[in-house]
Amino acid sequence: MITSVHGCTPYKINYKKFPVYYCMIDAHILILSSNDETGKIITQLLQQSEGLRVSWVKDVLSLEIFLQNETPDLLIWDGQDNPEDLPQLLDSFNEHCPDIPVVLLGSEPSFSMALSALRGGCVDFIYPPFTDEGVLKIITSSLQRKKKSEQSQIILARMTEGVLVINSEGRVIFINQAARQAFDLESGNLIGKPYKEVLHNTDLLALLDPSIQTENLHGEISLADGRVLNCQVTPIPEIGYVITLQEITHLKELDRIKTDFVNAVSHDLRSPLTAILGYVDLLERVGEVNSQQKDFIQRVRLSVQSITALINDLLDLGRIEAGFDSQKEITPLGAIVRYSLEGLTNAITSRSQVLELDIPNETPYVLGNPVRLRQMCFNLISNAIKYAPIGGKIRIQVSSTDDHVILQVSDNGPGITPQDQPHIFDRFYRASNQPSDASGTGLGLAIVKSIVEDHQGRVWVDSLLGHGSTFTVLLPIVERP
Ligand code: ADP
Repeated sequence: MITSVHGCTPYKINYKKFPVYYCMIDAHILILSSNDETGKIITQLLQQSEGLRVSWVKDVLSLEIFLQNETPDLLIWDGQDNPEDLPQLLDSFNEHCPDIPVVLLGSEPSFSMALSALRGGCVDFIYPPFTDEGVLKIITSSLQRKKKSEQSQIILARMTEGVLVINSEGRVIFINQAARQAFDLESGNLIGKPYKEVLHNTDLLALLDPSIQTENLHGEISLADGRVLNCQVTPIPEIGYVITLQEITHLKELDRIKTDFVNAVSHDLRSPLTAILGYVDLLERVGEVNSQQKDFIQRVRLSVQSITALINDLLDLGRIEAGFDSQKEITPLGAIVRYSLEGLTNAITSRSQVLELDIPNETPYVLGNPVRLRQMCFNLISNAIKYAPIGGKIRIQVSSTDDHVILQVSDNGPGITPQDQPHIFDRFYRASNQPSDASGTGLGLAIVKSIVEDHQGRVWVDSLLGHGSTFTVLLPIVERP
């Protein structure tokens, strides 16, 4: 039964008396109480506020019927009705109407009442004697809290960036319109469903793979319609994971145009450089040169060699990104790592560094281009050697999960600042906080990233300033031939 109370005579409002607690929010308040006296008092109190519309139901059945037609902004629940069933009733109400805050009405202020309110997910509680000031203050602040949370929900829902929240059990607890659109999930209720049932984008699923633990989860996601998104996964304790998606298709296109230009220039520069190097080598053969001239020739040679190395790196990048390395073989990653180490043992010895290897004899196979995979390992290990101090430590580990083989290269070098970390895989990016003797072009990690992506893998860094860095590469395992 629904008892409408609109006929009650409203109080005359004394604004001076209630300057602060007069509720300024337009809202519909529902009272659930079987007690006539309590219901009337609360109704009359609330009706003092012009913006408040008040309805009153006397039992849970009437509440259910009421909710089929109307959605109140707040429910005042008399805890004296069915006190034994209260916890279950509140649980069930919160589950079905999570957006309607409940204020518990008790008989007296007590610890057990506060506990029931908290456990029942109530936003506040009121108890006799019901004063205008007390009741209106609680209702106002509860409504204000609801309004704030609704505002945040609206902002999140309408953001152009995609937002998806997954709880610690792997179930979707929030998804906004932009994220739905990105993954073609425009209709249907996704809340509460396991994300693996709902999301089918392989890039995103690889990022969320629980067997791969990292603090810094971000990567690019390619969509079926050709768009590219930058995806950041942020773990939030006791909530789960917040995934934000930002479209970067236009940046990728700009990047492609820039790459094409750099490739063309690099290509045209290589031939004259080879000629310069050839003539520099001939200089000493065609006539006597004094020691100063020898010194100058050597400087020219070194400079031309370093420009040539830079151009070769740029051309390599261009080739990898253009997909020219399509020939791939089934290869054990462990063997590739050992092979690339061969060319670096002298550098490790000359810097008196300690190398720790944890590579099983049998490592899983990957489908890859052995030359490029070797180049990737070489770049990561040579960086570890370059940035670890003299006498420092380098550790190389190969391990695996069910689906992926994992290569980790760690050092106890200077580490990389959190601000630099997102950029170190960009071309020409050289981070701050580096030893002054560490020379380089800023292309090594860009090549690593391109190679890894060309092999459907992922690479990232975990680094603590002053303690060192660990670069992790993840590549999909293929069946052994
Ligand atoms: P570079 O030729 O400068 O080493 P990379 O592309 O290989 O270029 O690396 C980019 C930047 O990332 C480096 O300049 C350095 O600042 C940082 N970096 C790479 N590897 C490490 C490492 N093992 N320890 C600390 N910083 C590193």
